[in-house]
Amino acid sequence: MERFDQSFTQQEPIPDAGIEAAIAVMRHGRLHRYNTVAEEIAETALLEEEFAAFTGARYCLAVASGGVAMATALRAVQVCPGAPVLTNAFTLAPVPGAIASIGARPVFIETTEDLTIDLGHLEVMARATDARVLMLSHMRGHLADMDRLMALCNSLGIVVIEDCAHTMGASWNGVPSGRHGAIGCYSTQTYKHINAGEGGLLITDDAGIAARSVLLSGSYMLYPRHRAAPPAEVFEAMRLDVPNISGRMDNLRAAILRPQIALLAERAARWLALYRALEDGLSGTLGLRLIPRPAAEAFVPSSFQFTLPGWPAARVRALVARCGARGVELKWFGAPEPVAFTSRYDHWRYAEPQPLPQTDRVLAGLIDMRLPLTFSTDDAALIARIIRAEVLAVGQMLQDALDAAAQGLRLAD
Ligand SMILES: *Cc1c(COP(=O)(O)O)cnc(C)c1O
Repeated sequence: MERFDQSFTQQEPIPDAGIEAAIAVMRHGRLHRYNTVAEEIAETALLEEEFAAFTGARYCLAVASGGVAMATALRAVQVCPGAPVLTNAFTLAPVPGAIASIGARPVFIETTEDLTIDLGHLEVMARATDARVLMLSHMRGHLADMDRLMALCNSLGIVVIEDCAHTMGASWNGVPSGRHGAIGCYSTQTYKHINAGEGGLLITDDAGIAARSVLLSGSYMLYPRHRAAPPAEVFEAMRLDVPNISGRMDNLRAAILRPQIALLAERAARWLALYRALEDGLSGTLGLRLIPRPAAEAFVPSSFQFTLPGWPAARVRALVARCGARGVELKWFGAPEPVAFTSRYDHWRYAEPQPLPQTDRVLAGLIDMRLPLTFSTDDAALIARIIRAEVLAVGQMLQDALDAAAQGLRLAD
């Protein structure tokens, strides 16, 4: 019986250029982004400039985490405490957490079979709550129809903030993820597309939002040192009105990240090859549904999802256990209790309880798997063979149990 023996959480090393740049920062000791000498430009300011260029955004701000980027974005568009903020029911804990961190109320929107936000439910809830802001999470890299979504939000006067933690480098109809809404937020945490351990990035074309974000992030009065920020006069109008909520990125992380931006395209190609190898190996498996990917979507799959429609919990649990025993680490979004990074909307008890039957149905059969670049396409093919065999084995067990029960009934006749 085949087994897989590699770690699902082992990322690639930091590229040598990043290691050397980080060592240089440690040798000179000026780790704080505003600690520069003479004409020196901080690594953090350079990262912002380079990431703005990568996405095509006017402005970029580097912060301490993806969660800080999202909370900063919500504050920068001036969401008030108690205000409703629309967001995906299928997302990760830092998203509703960012909404709660500013005292606002997450209002969850249903999930489609294809793991994106349900636009019909979005419209209903937007009208019912009068929410002004959508925190749109491109969860696990699945992009909704962004043309339809933006048309709907524009018609309702809703400001869109994009959570691009899983879509750095992705695009819809050629427009980069993070460039559809007013703000795009990214994470540079270890499990995302570029890795500095922690960190976040925020992009926007709006000068007021950019200046407020810089001030919020804790710029003291040193905002002129930013290179991907609006001119000083934009700050001057507001600098005494915006609180300093320190959440900066440091030069060490920026030094680690800068060389990784250039690697993103090549990484995206390798991720896609792993994803396609899994799809090929799993297609046509009875009882298992692959997620269709629209032609308009260019995605950077650092993880893989499939659903087991209509499976009872015990059968899903059996599959996860049997794959786990063969070294294939699957995560199940239907589990009644949060496990490691995996939690769901009804575990976030600080949010008002909301009935979301469609999301419940999708999550009950949703399986998720990390796809680190330390895997090869042969590894992906092996993982697919194991999952396929176990899906069929668990199905056969069910069939045997049904046959035995039928036999029992006949005997009883
Ligand atoms: C990782 C992640 C974030 C941001 O996470 P941080 O750990 O705060 O950097 C936001 N949204 C989603 C969906 C994520 O997975």
